[in-house]
Amino acid sequence: MSIDFNSNYTMTIGGKGVTSPGTIDVMNPATGEPFAKAPDCTEAQLDEAVAAAKAAFKSWRNTPIEERQALVRKAGEVLAAHAEELSRLFTREQGRPVDAAKQEVLGGAQWLQAVSMMTPPTHVSEDSDTQRIETRYVPLGVICAIAPWNFPVTLSMWKVAPALVAGNTMVLKPSPFTPLCTLKIGELFRDIFPPGVLNIISGGDQLGPQMTSHPGFAKISFTGSTATGKAVLSSAAKDLKRVTLELGGNDAAIVMPDVDLDEVAQKIFFGAFFNTAQICVATKRLYVHESIYDGLRDRLAAIAKGVKVGDGTEQGTVLGPVQNKRQYERVMDLIDDAKANGLTMIEGAAVPEGGGYFIPVTIVDNPPESSRVVQEEAFGPVLPMLKFADIDDVIDRANDSDYGLAGAVWSKDEDKAVEIARRLETGTVWINQNLNLRPDTPFAGHKQSGFGIENGMEGLLEYMVPQAIYLAKA
Ligand code: NAD
Repeated sequence: MSIDFNSNYTMTIGGKGVTSPGTIDVMNPATGEPFAKAPDCTEAQLDEAVAAAKAAFKSWRNTPIEERQALVRKAGEVLAAHAEELSRLFTREQGRPVDAAKQEVLGGAQWLQAVSMMTPPTHVSEDSDTQRIETRYVPLGVICAIAPWNFPVTLSMWKVAPALVAGNTMVLKPSPFTPLCTLKIGELFRDIFPPGVLNIISGGDQLGPQMTSHPGFAKISFTGSTATGKAVLSSAAKDLKRVTLELGGNDAAIVMPDVDLDEVAQKIFFGAFFNTAQICVATKRLYVHESIYDGLRDRLAAIAKGVKVGDGTEQGTVLGPVQNKRQYERVMDLIDDAKANGLTMIEGAAVPEGGGYFIPVTIVDNPPESSRVVQEEAFGPVLPMLKFADIDDVIDRANDSDYGLAGAVWSKDEDKAVEIARRLETGTVWINQNLNLRPDTPFAGHKQSGFGIENGMEGLLEYMVPQAIYLAKA
């Protein structure tokens, strides 16, 4: 199949490529200039997409699961085969350097393949002379999938893979900031799935609310900010749509005094700043034991000075721009607030000048716990580093948040680290590693970081509902 990855971005509705009367501009965050246009889905086209998904559901739900799994697996192969072209487009719309962009596309492919090996269980509660009681899982219907801009490919595939394996059909909307790769993936998959099984639409800010209030959806699977998640949940209430919400985080990492600083500094740095710190599960509050605080701060500062921040298409760039102007302004506002309050800031390497959304890697040196940069999710390259002396105190500080997505513990004492991990109120905890997520392991935000689960068998079952069949035997 020959696809032009540099132009002709179309939606996929009912298995066909579709343009729309209006378009939205897609910006290159490294220049701040528009470089492409994506369709701006009309309400009538949204209706068509939902109708196509609804019509396709009738036969897709009855397609044997082995066939659905095989098609999802094929989609994974096709995605992997186009990782190179997609990664170049990815860098232009998202900003991340090309090699890391390629890893994300391959990660999406890996997810499709891994989830295609999963089969929901069937439980038999009784099989006697008098009756047989069997519970199986059945699909829900048409899924409304809404994705963010920070990991546009992987986080979309986290939804596509389990929803389709489970027998649902879908209308997927990428973020208006990063619609292009997802639209091209729709084109790549157009001949794989029967028409209407996977519809992909793009549009401006009006489209998300139009989708979540659309009566044709059985469930909403949403990844994005906690504020938007709350709006989605209240919109879903009208028709009692099922929801899965993967939301924001303000993850704490706790660094114990026994670590080897040279060994961990690099890992801790990229656990906070990879993807220009635009990761829901990035370290966003770094608590360091007072006895090693200065040593770690100086090592992180040295790494920050040596890391090239720039256009992701340039050789040697490690960190790209912030993905969009809105996010750039939000991060700059937090930095300005920290400066205005006299906090000590450590800046990394200089960033390119011009229209791109570049911000230097910034470490805030032991700010008060109550400062905005500690309390709010920055979702950009500004990291507060805080001292602690007492383990009970630091666990309380780590848990004193409305968020509960992930956390990390760094220590040579594995037993002690596990004990600390178990006391953290988050859905995922890493010990001496970070940012490691797998298709077979549930990912669930605690508190206001989420509602429901993605990944693992638990994540697959979120796209299904149990049906118990009681058979009386003659
Ligand atoms: P966002 O909430 O602004 O947007 C996410 C998506 O929702 C976009 O597609 C957007 O167009 C759409 N949207 C916006 N308003 C809507 C509404 N009222 N109704 C329905 N849809 C609407 O989030 P973002 O800025 O794209 O992403 C950053 C946030 O996402 C951060 O808070 C980050 O922590 C979080 N995030 C969470 C996870 C996770 O798995 N928990 C993963 C990645 C990002």
